[in-house]
Amino acid sequence: MNASLLIQKQKQFFQTGKTKEIAFRMNSLQSLKDGIKANEDKLLQALQEDLNKSEFEAYTSEIGIVLEEIRFTLKKLQSWAKPKKVKTPMTHIGSSSYIYSEPYGVAFIIAPWNYPFQLAIAPLIGAIAAGNCAILKPSELTPKTSEVLQNLISESFPKEYLTVVQGGVEESQTLLEENFDYIFFTGSVPVGKIIMESAAKTLTPVTLELGGKSPCIVHEDAHIQLAAKRIAWGKFMNAGQTCVAPDYLYVHKNIKKEFMKCFHQAIQELYGKEPLKNPNYTRIVSEKHFIRLQSFVQHGTIAIGGKTDKDTLTIEPTVLEGVSWEDAIMKDEIFGPILPVLEYDRLSNVIEDIHNHPNPLALYVFSEDTNVQQKVVNSVSFGGGCINDTVYHITSPYLPFGGVGTSGVGAYHGKGSFDTFSHQKSILKQTTRFDIPLRYPNVKNGLKKI
Ligand code: NAD
Repeated sequence: MNASLLIQKQKQFFQTGKTKEIAFRMNSLQSLKDGIKANEDKLLQALQEDLNKSEFEAYTSEIGIVLEEIRFTLKKLQSWAKPKKVKTPMTHIGSSSYIYSEPYGVAFIIAPWNYPFQLAIAPLIGAIAAGNCAILKPSELTPKTSEVLQNLISESFPKEYLTVVQGGVEESQTLLEENFDYIFFTGSVPVGKIIMESAAKTLTPVTLELGGKSPCIVHEDAHIQLAAKRIAWGKFMNAGQTCVAPDYLYVHKNIKKEFMKCFHQAIQELYGKEPLKNPNYTRIVSEKHFIRLQSFVQHGTIAIGGKTDKDTLTIEPTVLEGVSWEDAIMKDEIFGPILPVLEYDRLSNVIEDIHNHPNPLALYVFSEDTNVQQKVVNSVSFGGGCINDTVYHITSPYLPFGGVGTSGVGAYHGKGSFDTFSHQKSILKQTTRFDIPLRYPNVKNGLKKI
């Protein structure tokens, strides 16, 4: 089916009103959950083939996380979907006010390759919950997972409701020429700009979940051992190919030596002494990205790791010292298992450096001092983050997840996803028992009985 016909069919299906029924939405979410469970082994296999993701990582960061999101959404959907009665000002006496959440119509979801299952399904959950139809385009760089995704969706849903279109840039752009009612994009900043430009032609609303360089600050009073462990986990899972992974560290000079010792230990505990020989260590998605990352290892001096293997497309967890903002590695998001460590003396200098660069998607600060924590949180603009942890904020359905500035537009997860895919329609219900004439020109009497 060509793109125009597909969208036309989805628009027709949307117009039947079926997708707006709460029971239909709940059944669809349940079918999605059943479909995921039935395809679990195939998904694990596909994720292993596409990225060498271990079963543990694939389950926790891809499958388990979306099953939990479905469970949470099923529990809350009825209350989210009810029209909300809100206050009415005295000037509107006699009337009452409501906000109706209504679906946009046909949504286009474009997903990246780094968590190819989770980042395709998580927005889809929001689209279904809000009552939309959707076309999902997964990444061409993870073809095995895309295939399982396509089969899973086509086995569970009719095309005119939910469907997967596989392909790369060309297919994505062909679809973008159509008139969607909502576009939800996860990917890089440059492509995000292309998507927004294209959506502007039809004034289609967008959510852009983008990336950028996410700083991580380890202050001199931090719990060093825990910081080392939690940073190593957040940075090197999925071989650093995580949009919210710490991109670079700022470590206070007084604790740097001890931190580096603990950090080395933490990496070894996670991946062993020879990570490249660890069968559970995720690989780099493509040769192009491998070569890009390999060039970064030339910067500064290697403090930890540094070995690479072109045959298996793997790069050791690598820590660099002696890197400056002038080096290429500090210009763009690293998106791999390489971590530059910068040293600092004054926190205000760190904040100033971060201010001089685009708004991060995430920021992490490790400190036992509430004043330090609050100073960082309140003085830097970033999407979201953690105090004394990394990455974990994105797994809470109570915390909307998204960027700010160049790291993104809009947010999702939990109710955030339902809201993202819903238009808030405001309704004033007026009485007909009386009419206040004050708004009409040339009216002298007060209340007028009808
Ligand atoms: P990408 O922007 O290259 O591709 C993302 C999707 O867009 C893919 O499906 C791709 O086929 C499509 N695409 C690529 N070029 C296009 C074009 N010119 N026109 C239309 N569609 C196009 O991103 P990627 O390499 O898959 O993912 C890595 C990036 O995504 C990183 O920058 C990372 O930070 C970001 N990311 C962000 C989040 C988040 O939630 N904020 C999550 C994961 C990844």
